[in-house]
Amino acid sequence: MNTIQVQEARDQILSKIKVKGVEKVSLDQALGRVLAEDIISRVNNPPLDNSAMDGYALIAEDIAAATPESPVKLEVVEEIAAGYSAKGTLKPGQAMRIMTGAPIPAGANAVLMQEDTDKDENFILANDRADVEENIRKAGEDVQKGETVIKKGVALSPAHIGMMAVVGRSQVAVGQRPTVAILSTGDEILELDQKPEGPQIYNSNGHMLAAQIRSAGAIPVYLGIAKDTEKDLMEKFEWALKSDVVVSSGGVSVGDYDLVKASLQKMGQEMLFWKVAMKPGKPLAFGRIGDTPIFGLPGNPVSSFVSFEQFVRPSLKKIMGCSNLMHQTVQAKLTQTIHKKPGRLHFLSAIVSSDNGEYTVTPAGEQGSGILKSAANANGLLIFPLEEAELKEGAQVAVQLLDI
Ligand code: AMP
Ligand code: MG
Repeated sequence: MNTIQVQEARDQILSKIKVKGVEKVSLDQALGRVLAEDIISRVNNPPLDNSAMDGYALIAEDIAAATPESPVKLEVVEEIAAGYSAKGTLKPGQAMRIMTGAPIPAGANAVLMQEDTDKDENFILANDRADVEENIRKAGEDVQKGETVIKKGVALSPAHIGMMAVVGRSQVAVGQRPTVAILSTGDEILELDQKPEGPQIYNSNGHMLAAQIRSAGAIPVYLGIAKDTEKDLMEKFEWALKSDVVVSSGGVSVGDYDLVKASLQKMGQEMLFWKVAMKPGKPLAFGRIGDTPIFGLPGNPVSSFVSFEQFVRPSLKKIMGCSNLMHQTVQAKLTQTIHKKPGRLHFLSAIVSSDNGEYTVTPAGEQGSGILKSAANANGLLIFPLEEAELKEGAQVAVQLLDI
């Protein structure tokens, strides 16, 4: 098996992954989907100059000398509610009652807020001056007609959905979501409704992978557990080909019953079997059966988890047309000195927090490919570089943030 570095393995995999098609969805179904078009506004927002306050539209020059002691009296000639336009043009000496969001009448150049006025029948007393354009929201100050408001390749957030509604989009083109078959392997692995005896364990990887696939925005297809025989593996892999992508866990190492490798060698094309210079996770298979990309992840739960995040998640993101394939990586201050042997890049399950605008990071307890508890307590993966043997307390280190 070839030894390969993490980045090189990822680059090789991504170079073979193709973007899937595009589909239209209604805006309210678009959360989390990857935008497949630039959103270009056909409107100005706001459409017209309008009031930012409940108050009085007037001419700033009329009240230049207004104070509480010597207020300026203006005649109130009209009332403008949001959604309506003034009938007349405002003249010197006049004011119009105006509500938040209502269009500024012709002739006015400022809005004095209600709190700075006293009412006197059909008149107001302005107790304060106003700058020209005070409390006026200008047409197009949020969005200009023709402006690109969201770029293709973005995973849509709630605010993006709001933005598209601002510009009147009820339908939007997004990347199609791939179906991803999950095959767990191993004679010792049981479904959750079975009763483990002796060396038997539950299928944690299958369920965790399904959740990882879903959190990446793709559609998991749970195929259960294959026995450690070539016959069962090949049958189940055959079945898995109905999906767009296949992910298996276990059986890619060098043990006597690691038959996933042997099965893929028989069924797959361009199969690559690597020893990736990383920990946890080392054995990794990648290739195709027909047109379907297939990932053979290692069986240890933390290895499976971390390998998915490094190799499968970016692939699924690419298939959906996403421009950011990886989790966000930040620099964080390490709270304790840590050691390892050089030669492999380590991913440590870690807890990242933000203190006064600076990230700090602490390993989340015991690290090991079978210690899923630490991963479950973590919100980041601390990257301990390949050739380093020590990272000192206080050092700035790279951490992948798992929830972004
Ligand atoms: P393997 O890569 O098949 O040699 O498995 C390595 C380790 O991971 C073994 O201890 C397996 O029992 C464990 N393992 C493999 N598959 C799963 C799974 N689906 N869920 C939980 N543990 C697993
Ligand atoms: Mg196994």
